[in-house]
Amino acid sequence: MPIEADLAITNITVINPTQDPLVQMTVLIKDNRIVRIGRHINIGDNTVTVNGQDKYLIPGLWDFHVHLTFDSLVTPSMYDLFIANGITSIRDTGGLIEKMLPLIEQAEGDPQRYPRVMWAGPLLDGKTVVYDGSGPFNPEIGVGINSPGLAREMVEKLEAAGVDLLKAYEMLEPEIYEAILTIAQEKGLPVTGHVPLSMDVVSASNAGLSSMEHFRNIEMSAATNATQLLEERRKLLAKGLDTPGSALRQSIHQTQRIEAVRNIDSTKLERIAEVLATNNTVQIPTLGIAGARMHALWNEEEWLETFNSLSESTKAIWLANANSLSNSEASTENLEYARFCYSLVKYLADRNVKILAGTDTPIFLLTPGFSLHKELQFLVNAGLSERDALAAATIRPAEYFDMQHELGLIKEGYLADMVILGANPLEDISNTQDVRGVIKDGRYFDRSKLDALLGNRIQKID
Ligand SMILES: [Zn+2]
Repeated sequence: MPIEADLAITNITVINPTQDPLVQMTVLIKDNRIVRIGRHINIGDNTVTVNGQDKYLIPGLWDFHVHLTFDSLVTPSMYDLFIANGITSIRDTGGLIEKMLPLIEQAEGDPQRYPRVMWAGPLLDGKTVVYDGSGPFNPEIGVGINSPGLAREMVEKLEAAGVDLLKAYEMLEPEIYEAILTIAQEKGLPVTGHVPLSMDVVSASNAGLSSMEHFRNIEMSAATNATQLLEERRKLLAKGLDTPGSALRQSIHQTQRIEAVRNIDSTKLERIAEVLATNNTVQIPTLGIAGARMHALWNEEEWLETFNSLSESTKAIWLANANSLSNSEASTENLEYARFCYSLVKYLADRNVKILAGTDTPIFLLTPGFSLHKELQFLVNAGLSERDALAAATIRPAEYFDMQHELGLIKEGYLADMVILGANPLEDISNTQDVRGVIKDGRYFDRSKLDALLGNRIQKID
């Protein structure tokens, strides 16, 4: 009996990061689900067939650290750039409710056309707020919370708005931070964050933190003089209440970061790794940001070409920024910190701390969509296997949201989010960039449709 479906991809190599590749497979899709995977399947006449010979099928990718509302000039391009790059799910890690809601509505209104969006709402910050809207590099994506009562009010408001997680930020005081985590646990919401400057990473993780972004402030807790650094930080925070949040945070980082990186206590770092692994506080290293000046993507012609998919006005601004970055020298401290972040990837992965792939796009000229593929390369350069890098952008993110039973793998019954590649990503992770087709919630985008998504931007926006 022939099997009728909406779409069949034939003769393709199926790559799940959890098992060895399956060659010469046929994958059948009906509605938004994978209904059958196997060989010698008799396909019905009404099924659209895509020949997958010499191609590779991977689960739809996630970018696990995105800011849809960071730059309003870029916002309208982002969904298309994600889909065109095979990123079928994203996690937004900071944006105001009222700015996020229309975007969530848009994505949920047409799931076959837009990526799946999990979102955190604003950065929950302290008495001073880092992202307070004071300038183009500090858009208003944070809110200040200065009492446990306000923490509850805010979390309840966010829950009512439909957020999927919370994001605790750097200027939070310990008792407010702990209140947020307690309320989040009541509500069953994961909490991601930066370790607050007023805390150490062990107590932040022990309070129930689900994930940490950019390895932020790990070095300060792993330094030989960690206790002294923490005391100093608390004094600086108390003294700096009248200083703008971004300036205060920056000066603390400048005072403590490199000193800490140069004085890592290996026993303390071992202990931190153990706590993160035990608590399953997963890590999103965002090497694209941490190593931005080391990678200097702005010097690469190929990277500048990705700006062509942005609106004309954005492209002009980004090219000008790229130009000024090309003319500025990276400081030794900056490169030292980047190397430290790189070293943590393998160190923590070897100690069973999960690593997930996120970019922080559109910050620092990280073009939406394209930048996730770069992040995968960076993770492999930092010592992850190709397979683990692929897991970092597929099954690991699904697990984070407890969706591993229907997303993140190519399996019968799973949601049909997949990417067709022209070459094997397990041989070279940069092959994820060779996107030949994308399937989102069962809808197939061939290469010409993906090109249209990349090309249409300019027309649509200006
Ligand atoms: Zn971010």
